[in-house]
Amino acid sequence: MSKFALVLVNIKGLGVKTFSYLIPDNMKDIIKVGQLVLVPFGRQGLVKAFVVGFSDYLPENIKAKKINRIVEENPLFSLDYLKLLEWVANYYMCDFVTVINTAIPLKLTEQNSKLEKSVSVTEKTTENLTKRQKEIINLLKEKGKCNLVDFEREAKTTRATIKKLELGGYLKLLDVEIFRNPLEIFSKENLEPLFELNHEQQKVYEGVRKKDNKFPILIHGVTASGKTEVYFKLIKDTIDSGKNVLFLAPEIALASQLTKRLAKKFGINDVAIWHSSISDGERYDVWQKLYKNEIKILAGVRSAVFAPLQNIGLIIIDEEHENAYKQTNPSPRYDARVVARKLAEFHNCKLVLGSATPDIQTYYRALNSGNLFEMLHRFNNAPVAKTTIINMQQYGKAAYRGIISKQLQIATEETLEKGQQVILLINRRGFSTYTQCQACGEVIECEHCSVPMIWHSVDRVLKCHYCGREKSFPSECPNCGSDALHNSGTGTQKIELFVKELFKTARVARIDSDILNKKNAHIELLNKFQKGEIDILIGTQMIAKGLDNPNVTLVGVISADESFNLPDFRASERGFQLLTQVAGRSGRGKYLGKVIFQTYNPDFYAIDSAQRQDFKTFYDTEIAAREEFDYPPFAQVFRLILSCENVFRAEKSAMEIAMRLNEMIDKFGISERLIVLGPTPCVLEKIRNQYRFQIIIKNKMDERGHQFISSFLSKITMPKDIKLIVDVEPTDIL
Ligand code: ADP
Ligand code: ZN
Ligand code: ZN
Repeated sequence: MSKFALVLVNIKGLGVKTFSYLIPDNMKDIIKVGQLVLVPFGRQGLVKAFVVGFSDYLPENIKAKKINRIVEENPLFSLDYLKLLEWVANYYMCDFVTVINTAIPLKLTEQNSKLEKSVSVTEKTTENLTKRQKEIINLLKEKGKCNLVDFEREAKTTRATIKKLELGGYLKLLDVEIFRNPLEIFSKENLEPLFELNHEQQKVYEGVRKKDNKFPILIHGVTASGKTEVYFKLIKDTIDSGKNVLFLAPEIALASQLTKRLAKKFGINDVAIWHSSISDGERYDVWQKLYKNEIKILAGVRSAVFAPLQNIGLIIIDEEHENAYKQTNPSPRYDARVVARKLAEFHNCKLVLGSATPDIQTYYRALNSGNLFEMLHRFNNAPVAKTTIINMQQYGKAAYRGIISKQLQIATEETLEKGQQVILLINRRGFSTYTQCQACGEVIECEHCSVPMIWHSVDRVLKCHYCGREKSFPSECPNCGSDALHNSGTGTQKIELFVKELFKTARVARIDSDILNKKNAHIELLNKFQKGEIDILIGTQMIAKGLDNPNVTLVGVISADESFNLPDFRASERGFQLLTQVAGRSGRGKYLGKVIFQTYNPDFYAIDSAQRQDFKTFYDTEIAAREEFDYPPFAQVFRLILSCENVFRAEKSAMEIAMRLNEMIDKFGISERLIVLGPTPCVLEKIRNQYRFQIIIKNKMDERGHQFISSFLSKITMPKDIKLIVDVEPTDIL
């Protein structure tokens, strides 16, 4: 047995650090990785710490103190778990402690006596309650701690009750529905049965079952094809075989909905939820249950890949194309899909991904490994809304304020007359101004990078933010010779104004990033829209997904071109996903829906295939372009961002790094396979007074390239005032 234990402590002001402690003889046989221990720490006295490793030697001149005692003999995580975190640190090029900090709720190492709450309800607090409320309390008393569950915003009654009961935020009810009917839902006998699968579902289910665990499996199924029901069958099989299931969704709201559905099918005591807004007490509790193998199904958002679920037999990632699976800030900049793949490898289990608009890279890999399953029909064969493309080259002049075409006006009026609702999507991110020909739809792109060039009004040039090339504003369109070249961009507020001018009696509301600053404003507006108190909802990409309002029968996209013209190699993919998703908001109820895309570029492949909801055609064109320009899946992209308050220093340090990297690459003769672009200013050039420059690296030599970059970066030390961010496989390059 080793002499020293490496422990992790979390000290106020110091943060998370590891230290070595002497293992007393009486602990030698019982001490394990993952245990919670008490160690003496300077003036702080005894503090809580986690054992993360062992050694026989100490760095010179360090005198180790003794571990005081073991608080929890049951470890809270395993060695394998630490190995996974270590892998994440290496892959995402950040330090181990940062990953641990993200993965393990380190509040656990602080004074966690407060965490050991239980349900205590005194007679006094129950005095003024209704019969139903008392019923619930009895139930809760009976159950003791029940799995943490979360409740939705509308659940005002529930919340009030909880407050009254002084449950201290520890125990929350699933939602109003359960509140109304707790006994039924909590009881095992009343679980909802799984549906009989239809033919298409059954085929996919059987196909997935037969696959080995080697590669991720993709279920590409149009919305409402019944993917979730297929997942449920797979889940059932997995828990019947004695193993557990991890189920990821992109956002908290979706994860909560899912938890509810899972609880109804599999019983509330076997299901738990994991996301960033659960309290530390809850987290601690779920953490222990997971580690003790008391939970069978864990639903959660991306951070749930780090929850210590044991004995995993299946991992499902729904809506796998969503950006939210990648953490962009702060470090570790991990992608839950990538980590999940590693996790599946550790557990030798299946990873099943699902989406109606899969990530190009996921689709490519699934296709090539024979692990692609498709569900192309809606479950009940409900018709998909019909999409019309309005060519603004032709109709733009007659459009209201040049923006709202006659066709969209008429369709809106008709919809309002029927008392139905309208969604208008404005597809823009305020900062980018690309240049487009209004006669033929051509967008000025960099010939080397195939991304739109961005107009810089200060320097009066077009700039490529990938390679740095510049161009003056062309006098005519390079495609058709017309002089109708135009810098894009009408703000959401202006469009709201125009819509209000046009439809005077309609109740109009707008949701965009301005609104996000006001807490809950966005949710309140969505609720109002849901209740029919808003006729026309105008918004950016935020309104494209999730909304399930059966009374919406018209979706208009003001300018379908905008999202395609961000200077990002994924712009077409994102644009296609957005149009397909937003089109899916129309006609979900008993009325047939309509969709209108306004565009200057009607023949653009992504718009054309979004109109027909034709993923495959979009994919075929997109994958060819990716191959030609060395983008994923044909190269792995790294992004380095250097930022500094001083613009010259930021640029200079970026140039230096690029130069040194290029020198190394030349020395090893791998410049064909490791391609360095830039430095260039980021599209978002200045954030919080920091000037930002980026270097893009395309790696075409897999792990060896990754290692090369990693070792190069590990040798770099930056001056204090300059920050270097490394983003491995970034989701966007803005
Ligand atoms: P997706 O996940 O593909 O968007 P869902 O699984 O949510 O689709 O299914 C859409 C709707 O169809 C849901 O209301 C679901 O309950 C219902 N449904 C799907 N499959 C079946 C089935 N085999 N039997 C009965 N209802 C089903
Ligand atoms: Zn033109
Ligand atoms: Zn370029």
